[in-house]
Amino acid sequence: MRDTDLYRHLLGPLDPWEVSRVELSVADGRVDVWAEHPKRARFPCPECDRGLAVYDHAEERAWRHLDSCQFLTYLHARPPRVKCPEHGVHQAALPWAEPMARFTTLFERLAVEVLKECDVLGASRLLRTSWDETWHLMERAVTRGLQAKPASAPARLGVDEKSAGRGQDYVTVVSDLDRGTVEHIADHRRQASLDSYFDQLSAEQLKGIKAVAMDMWEPYASSVRAHLPDADNKIVFDRFHIMGYLVEAVDTVRKQENRALVAAGDPSLVGSKYLWLYSRENLPKHHRRRFAALRKADLRTGRAWAIKENLRRFWEYKRKGWALRYWKSWYFWATHSRLGPVIEAARTLKRHEAGLLAFFSHRITNAGAEGLNSRIQAIRVSARGYRNREHFKTAIYFHLGGLDLYPPVA
Ligand SMILES: [Zn+2]
Repeated sequence: MRDTDLYRHLLGPLDPWEVSRVELSVADGRVDVWAEHPKRARFPCPECDRGLAVYDHAEERAWRHLDSCQFLTYLHARPPRVKCPEHGVHQAALPWAEPMARFTTLFERLAVEVLKECDVLGASRLLRTSWDETWHLMERAVTRGLQAKPASAPARLGVDEKSAGRGQDYVTVVSDLDRGTVEHIADHRRQASLDSYFDQLSAEQLKGIKAVAMDMWEPYASSVRAHLPDADNKIVFDRFHIMGYLVEAVDTVRKQENRALVAAGDPSLVGSKYLWLYSRENLPKHHRRRFAALRKADLRTGRAWAIKENLRRFWEYKRKGWALRYWKSWYFWATHSRLGPVIEAARTLKRHEAGLLAFFSHRITNAGAEGLNSRIQAIRVSARGYRNREHFKTAIYFHLGGLDLYPPVA
């Protein structure tokens, strides 16, 4: 078999193109393959599909293709241009690559497979592509996936802020709580960040959004109020975020009390910080005896802890009416505790009461989305060289966007 015939078979259907020349360079470990089309071949206008004669050719270009055994393989050709009476001069579509691609479609498909399995550094080693080329392949896959995605809005959204780098660099992540996919990522954690998601939806799609889980973060709440009708019955403040306020209040009470006790020569609370941070059922066994003794002692910290633990029962109610009654009695207890930090936390919750009680209409939390939070965190951690926020966003869409990332094969 001639080498040109071999590559005609290896490359797959290239109609009307033919393999005209093959060069093997053992020293460089590469194979170069040239494709040519028959003189009188006609090509469709990329805009309207009308069959047209060749107008002229662009410069010769090369596309990286799947390796031939261990040899890097490049396909070379001069892309023909057509002149459509309606759409003007355009480069004709090529059967082996997408427009503007530096890789063949089959190579891009392989790259998607590899990138799904490992990080960018690992993929660039396996694919023998540069760091920038590998990111480029991932970005192209995401762009392709986002373009192919049908326009729709999830019924139940999660909105969360994620640290994107050092310090105060955040992105806003909008997720579909039912599918467990990331729908939208925007810079910062401002009202405008979430606005940018709602602004691209139609009035019909906005109406389809039934509930939004979020932290007690005013800019997000304002954005929802500006875009969704009846917003206050749709905003559900995340219960884990709410409990975070109480956990912090307990810790502040402990610090203050410990300082006072130590000053009076009483070390009972020294080294007890983490005992108070556990939920009742998660306290490690070897701490139980000391913790039981601490709780029996008449400590302000113990009272703060009991108030915190009791708030958890709020979310266990089946009915909103009962939950409301429980909330009122808890609030009375908390605000009459004479524990400053607890009173302050309770008042913060009171200001967000509607979003607390909306839980009983929708029963959603941000934590539910298929472990999305921990997966985003894993992407951030594995991304030792993400270098910038755009890369972080691309990787989240790639791994968690639920997108069809593959280029279609001709
Ligand atoms: Zn045309």
